[in-house]
Amino acid sequence: MSLELDRECPVCGEPKTFYRAAAMEMHLGTKVKWHCPDCEYGFVRIDDAVDTDADASA
Ligand SMILES: [Zn+2]
Repeated sequence: MSLELDRECPVCGEPKTFYRAAAMEMHLGTKVKWHCPDCEYGFVRIDDAVDTDADASA
C-alpha cells in the first residue's frame, strides 16, 4: 500500500499529494486515513476502495 495518494482536495481546490495519516486493521479491511498536506482536510478509505468523508470519530 502506498504512503501517498494524488487526489484533488476540495478545500484547496487543486490536486494535492495526500499523505497517510493513520491506518487501522478492521474486519472490513484496512482503514486508512489520508490527509491533505496543505490544509486540515482528510478522508478515510478502506482497502483503497471505500471513500467516506473523514472525521476522526469514524
Ligand atoms: Zn487541502
